[in-house]
Amino acid sequence: LIIPSWQEFCQHIKDIFLKCRDITDGKVATYIPQLSRVDPNKWGVSICTVDGQRASWGDCKEPFCFQSISKAFNYAIAASELGADVVHSYVGQEPSGRLFNEICLDNNDKPHNPMVNSGAIIVTALINNKLNLADRFDSMINAYRQIAGGEYIGFNNAVFLSERQTADRNYALSYYMKEKKCFPPETTNLTDALDFYFQLCSLETNCEALSVMAATLANGGVCPITEERCVKNRPCRDVLSLMNSCGMYDYSGQFSFHVGLPAKSGVSGNLMIVIPNLVGIAIWSPPLDLLGNSVRGVAFCKELITRFNFHTYDSL
Ligand code: GLU
Repeated sequence: LIIPSWQEFCQHIKDIFLKCRDITDGKVATYIPQLSRVDPNKWGVSICTVDGQRASWGDCKEPFCFQSISKAFNYAIAASELGADVVHSYVGQEPSGRLFNEICLDNNDKPHNPMVNSGAIIVTALINNKLNLADRFDSMINAYRQIAGGEYIGFNNAVFLSERQTADRNYALSYYMKEKKCFPPETTNLTDALDFYFQLCSLETNCEALSVMAATLANGGVCPITEERCVKNRPCRDVLSLMNSCGMYDYSGQFSFHVGLPAKSGVSGNLMIVIPNLVGIAIWSPPLDLLGNSVRGVAFCKELITRFNFHTYDSL
């Protein structure tokens, strides 16, 4: 067993879960009605170790959309299919130091990294781009399900339609990138490229399934439930590096300093944390701080690090 005193470990996680439940700061995202209507009191935590030990607390079966957490999986899947070199001929690895949806490129006129919108839109445009949109969607939802060990992955069409309707910034960003020749040559249609990006943001999961997905990354790309390899070794390392430097919006540097673990958050208030070779953690609490991260989610991570030596440099 990877965590020998499982009961004791779970008791700590439960304590942290209860402590963070008292936090009522933050505001639920309101840019689309589907997110603004979510109950701010929802609070779920699930953990899954690399040998498949599981535990959950709170609203761990309630669905939420991946939103920006999809960026991490889309990158891992794209890099597994195409290789890191191909993907990184289109997108860099540097934190942008700018807002996640800002219209800006790096000095080579490439998106800074796959965790900001510009980079994520380019990455999705690379995935299976010789197929039609229906087949591309099918293949992605199947890849997500494989990473989740067959657990809940759904699609929220209302979120998709809302995202598409309020997409002026992402359109502006994409036209700017088209002008700068950022897209792969196969991309003939920006509307298709963006629809695919919005569809992947609108995939749904819950804490239980997301903890398995995080555990697959913690386990080097092999799902701990099915023992299937779903992400290749190198892309798994690479996505964790990117999560470490760019996964928490403009809090990424501070998160890396205080918590020292690869993580990715999304605007639905979801957060996944990967403790390599040990455990995947999924957190959901909709109210966000000013930088767009789940308030309870960040508090949970900080408390975790005060109780356990999980920070990358705690081992020194
Ligand atoms: N759907 C959002 C967008 O592309 C992503 C929000 C997020 O950061 O989670 O603008």
